[in-house]
Amino acid sequence: MKTNEPHVLIAGAGPVGMISALVLGHAGVRVTVLESSSELNKDLRASTFHPPTLDMLANYGLTQPLIEQGLVARYTQQRDRVKGVIAEFDLSLLSGLTDHPFRLQCEQWKLTDLIRQKLAEMPQVTLCFDSRVESVTQSSDHVVVQVKQHGELHALQADYLIGADGAWSAVRTQLGIAFEGFTYPERFLVVSTPFEYAQHMPHLSYVNYCSDPHEWCVLLRVPTLWRVLFPTKEDESDEFVLTDESVQTRLQRLLPQPNDYTVVHRTLYKVHQRVAQQFRQGRVFLAGDAAHINNPLGGMGMNGGIHDAMNLCQKLLAVLQQGKHTDTLDLYEKQRRTIAIEYINASTARNKKEIEERDPVLREKNHDELRALAADPVSSLAYLRKTSMIDALERAEALT
Ligand SMILES: Cc1cc2nc3c(=O)[nH]c(=O)nc-3n(C[C@H](O)[C@H](O)[C@H](O)COP(=O)(O)OP(=O)(O)OC[C@H]3O[C@@H](n4cnc5c(N)ncnc54)[C@H](O)[C@@H]3O)c2cc1C
Repeated sequence: MKTNEPHVLIAGAGPVGMISALVLGHAGVRVTVLESSSELNKDLRASTFHPPTLDMLANYGLTQPLIEQGLVARYTQQRDRVKGVIAEFDLSLLSGLTDHPFRLQCEQWKLTDLIRQKLAEMPQVTLCFDSRVESVTQSSDHVVVQVKQHGELHALQADYLIGADGAWSAVRTQLGIAFEGFTYPERFLVVSTPFEYAQHMPHLSYVNYCSDPHEWCVLLRVPTLWRVLFPTKEDESDEFVLTDESVQTRLQRLLPQPNDYTVVHRTLYKVHQRVAQQFRQGRVFLAGDAAHINNPLGGMGMNGGIHDAMNLCQKLLAVLQQGKHTDTLDLYEKQRRTIAIEYINASTARNKKEIEERDPVLREKNHDELRALAADPVSSLAYLRKTSMIDALERAEALT
């Protein structure tokens, strides 16, 4: 039944769906979140929060508790896997531009857990588990979603639908929106270990991108573990990559140790660079991984998705509560799709190209450029504005 009270449906209770629910619920809008799983996802995926994301989350009382559960990373490093540090960047240079001049190393599930606690205090927000969005139809004044809940199909009607249902978005498929781009032939293996890398690798920071012509890697610290990300070879099977033998061989190649490493998690991911052809179709929107996916080099997927959610929800609130014309909603696609293409996908693809560069001349050139950037505070600031996604947000605001 449609009432006069605005109602927004959200497909997916990942970080993007949950933050959307919080922003709308905080403003008093009636929201229903539909999540296909029976619980919030606890996979170890994103672990980096960029400064402007922390500024946004602070408005909802989320940043301080995340800091308490994470690690403040003032520095990031670009390293050569064999030679060590090439360039170190100090995020405190961003002090005048953000209240949080650092990256926060903290698992993404801690964010969704915190939001869930806040939503529990909002009677206007309903979080439904075991609720899979199956189909979507819309008219000029409402949207109808068919949801499978505990094996039965139910129809839900609302004013708007946000498809935050991840890379394989049913909402995107239902709308017939193409997901343009490509899938990398290799997969990425992420291994977590309590091994204390910092005691064995000199001057390691909490965020380390290690280039190498044969096997690059990324070393990321979260409070109790190191996460090591490796590319796999195209001809290795998924089953083999996940065996103890393959995992130990990779870890021993990176840093030989007399004993086997303790491995807490191992996960293999397919990696894509794709952007949806539309972010809005009538009363339905795509946000986060449903709208754009990219490789994790630079930590921009979840951060970019949170920026989508903030942008979209502000516009929805302007329409629902301030009487703004619905044309305002078109600006969401114009701003965020442009950023997904020009910035998030372009930067992460470039990061991958540079970290895996095989040509020795180009590798040296890349390293020289990084050294020059780090040595000059003005260039460092420009680099940090870009890698922290501050430039992207300013670019989006400039699109009117
Ligand atoms: C190894 C790795 C490391 C990463 N590191 C970073 C990082 O450091 N920083 C960063 O910014 N990003 C990182 N990312 C990317 C980040 O994890 C994603 O961008 C982020 O999870 C996207 O959030 P989302 O809410 O859009 O989608 P998801 O987290 O995928 O959530 C979608 C939700 O929708 C639900 N769902 C799916 N289909 C339906 C349906 N039909 N009906 C209802 N619910 C449905 C799913 O169960 C899920 O809960 C990393 C990713 C990987 C794989």
